[in-house]
Amino acid sequence: MARTTVQEALANTSVGAEIEVKGWVRTFRSNRFIALNDGSTINNIQAVVDFEKIDESILKQINTGACISVKGELVQSMGKGQSVEIQANAVEVLGSADPEEVRKTIMQPKKHSLDLLREQAHLRFRTNTFSAVFRIRHAATIAVHEYFNKNGFYNIHTPIITGSDAEGAGEMFKVTNLDLNNPPKTEDGAIDYSQDFFEKETNLTVSGQLEAELAALALSKVYTFGPTFRAENSNTSRHLAEFWMIEPEVAFNDLDDNMDLAESFLKYVIQYVLDNCKDDLEFLNERFVKEEQAKPKLERSEMSLIEKLNSVVDNNFVRLSYTEAIEILRNSKPNKKGKFKFPVDGWGVDLQSEHERYLVEKHFKCPVVLYDYPANIKAFYMRLNDDGKTVRAMDVLFPGIGEIVGGSQREERYDVLKDKMAAMDIEEKELWWYLETRKFGTCVHSGFGLGFERLVQFVTGMGNIRDVIPFPRTPGKAEF
Ligand code: ATP
Ligand code: MN
Repeated sequence: MARTTVQEALANTSVGAEIEVKGWVRTFRSNRFIALNDGSTINNIQAVVDFEKIDESILKQINTGACISVKGELVQSMGKGQSVEIQANAVEVLGSADPEEVRKTIMQPKKHSLDLLREQAHLRFRTNTFSAVFRIRHAATIAVHEYFNKNGFYNIHTPIITGSDAEGAGEMFKVTNLDLNNPPKTEDGAIDYSQDFFEKETNLTVSGQLEAELAALALSKVYTFGPTFRAENSNTSRHLAEFWMIEPEVAFNDLDDNMDLAESFLKYVIQYVLDNCKDDLEFLNERFVKEEQAKPKLERSEMSLIEKLNSVVDNNFVRLSYTEAIEILRNSKPNKKGKFKFPVDGWGVDLQSEHERYLVEKHFKCPVVLYDYPANIKAFYMRLNDDGKTVRAMDVLFPGIGEIVGGSQREERYDVLKDKMAAMDIEEKELWWYLETRKFGTCVHSGFGLGFERLVQFVTGMGNIRDVIPFPRTPGKAEF
């Protein structure tokens, strides 16, 4: 007999059939009602056992956490809360779980803190919250590839080990196979990387952008979706040391096209999750509303999770230049009352997350795209505007998240790029290959980077980025 998934069984199309369902016991009540889950859906199926038919020794092993197989007839349910249930004829214990030990874990059915769940990341897939989050993460992954595939983009796998450290997006992790206790040295006492595996210094990538640009200048529309590493020692709810980044790069797109792409892409993925993850979203929506109610009124979200997602899909993002944003912030109440930790007193300062959140959550109450930033707070490859002091950069800011996308129109002019690299102390011999693309058929092009976990945070309403990736890597934490 082929296994029926819980999702299929609950779809209620095979009432009267003999089926076999396998999964993990969530609860077992009154020696009679098993709530069984196999991860195919947030919902459990109820299996009703007749304790006269089932062996005493088996009944004893039907405990929370155990893995079992149930065979029986799928029938219309008399009880409340489910439409169908299984009238169990046979139960087999596939993997037992000692109740004494289960009680010490997060499988014990009661409310646990997210901190505790993180310490037991190997078991958190078994909880409703995390199974919902990871099913949604999967759906969002599919939506990402579907969007780009439908729109004529090619997926490019850029390298994870990189020989350049010029991108400057963050602190890098070194990659080496030298003996750290006894590394070879040059005459002046420095480590001799010419004897390392790659015969040069190498790092884990902080972004696939520069390589994606090379591909875009031949294939026109490309995107990457891969792991990215930053040794940032910032213990925030928005930063991981290992995260997944999506980086589209498009030849012939200027900054306006780039903003259009970011907006249409974000809306597509969110709509896909709304359409395909109804049960999980409803569960997380309820959770979100409860969490918000526990917050002080000023910090509380006015909308439920599902309302928030619909509102992002249904409304245009506000587009605003950096200069306009500075004016709004300078004249804002919190700035005048000295409420910002970093007061906004003039043009040229980098925006802190408190400023971004003020714009998005208090002033506009919708996603905001900021563009044309001061050149000296942005990366060397962003295209210089005619004013000579701003660059064609853009950041997309989301409510509750802050920066979700960072991108730009790229500097396509050979001489301007060369001068900027020199001014920013970026060695040409490191990036000769990047510069060369500006010599051979250069053209206007743009792209952006989207942190996938920040997007999953937004669609699931999870407050901490560590709770939307199965095994988070953060300072001091690399277990599992
Ligand atoms: P932030 O200011 O939030 O640190 P950033 O300016 O360093 O972001 P970029 O270098 O532009 O970010 O990277 C592009 C996108 O990657 C960001 O918009 C964000 O969504 C995501 N991102 C950046 N750093 C991290 C991180 N440490 N963990 C998770 N996502 C990140
Ligand atoms: Mn950063």
